[in-house]
Amino acid sequence: MKKAIFYLFMLLPILVVSCGAKKYPKFDKEEAFSYLNKQCEFGTREPGSEGIKLCREYIKDNLMKYNAVVKEQKFTAKIRGEEIQGVNILASFNPRLSRRILLGAHYDTRPWADKDKNPDVHNKPIPGANDGASGVAVLLEIAKIISQKEPEEIGVDLVFFDLEDSGSYDDDKSWCKGSQFFAENYSEDEPEAAIIIDMIGDKDLHIPMEYFSYHNSPVLTSDIWKIADNLGFKSFQNKIGVPIYDDHYPLLENGFNVIDIIDMDYKYWHTLQDLPKNCSSESLYEVGQTLINYIYSK
Ligand SMILES: [Zn+2]
Repeated sequence: MKKAIFYLFMLLPILVVSCGAKKYPKFDKEEAFSYLNKQCEFGTREPGSEGIKLCREYIKDNLMKYNAVVKEQKFTAKIRGEEIQGVNILASFNPRLSRRILLGAHYDTRPWADKDKNPDVHNKPIPGANDGASGVAVLLEIAKIISQKEPEEIGVDLVFFDLEDSGSYDDDKSWCKGSQFFAENYSEDEPEAAIIIDMIGDKDLHIPMEYFSYHNSPVLTSDIWKIADNLGFKSFQNKIGVPIYDDHYPLLENGFNVIDIIDMDYKYWHTLQDLPKNCSSESLYEVGQTLINYIYSK
């Protein structure tokens, strides 16, 4: 009897502490990394490739398996003088809810490894493990989590952008064709927050607050960075980074409350070495779990 009372006293503070902390779903980093690997197994995913067709089907199949309402948004864009068809993939969870969060990532990969040290490969397409597959992998794992337990008060829209990475370095508007089309043709009420993720798989992950994001959406930026800080994630840096024209920019121009979570400081950017071995599941986890805690705190 004495012993039992002793244990009860021991347990009491633990019970009180655990009641106060909100429980968030766990982001499975190994499963997320398997989505990254799978995309790379399809081969390179530049416009017109067999890989991008397989990848598109793979994304849609997973979203349907996770009970999202899935739509394709087709558009055309000029890439180096050639008319190319692009397909954005849109997925909605709980479409009846008026409060919305939008998450986006591009799934196409660059047709030219023009930052590779070897000039002979500058016309070869990149594998895009980080630049392409990493953002999609995190979104697919988030889709799985939502399908298991939908957030009660907020609906989530996922957008998988096409034709992000076929641009020319001297012309901003030649990039992000899918998000330009999406933002310019958006007819719903805007989501209360939109978050783009890109190049978040680097083994050596450092994410400063992207310049345009910070200035356009300081509250959203600080909310996200605070969550990452509370989780002890060192990859999110408390400093303002360089301005980047990425898929968030066309949304920002069209009035969205939007930020971009991106690590541009990637050694293998636009090279043939953008491979799964240079990415890590831990990096996907730090971004994925931060987003999960944000969504489920709403
Ligand atoms: Zn790129």
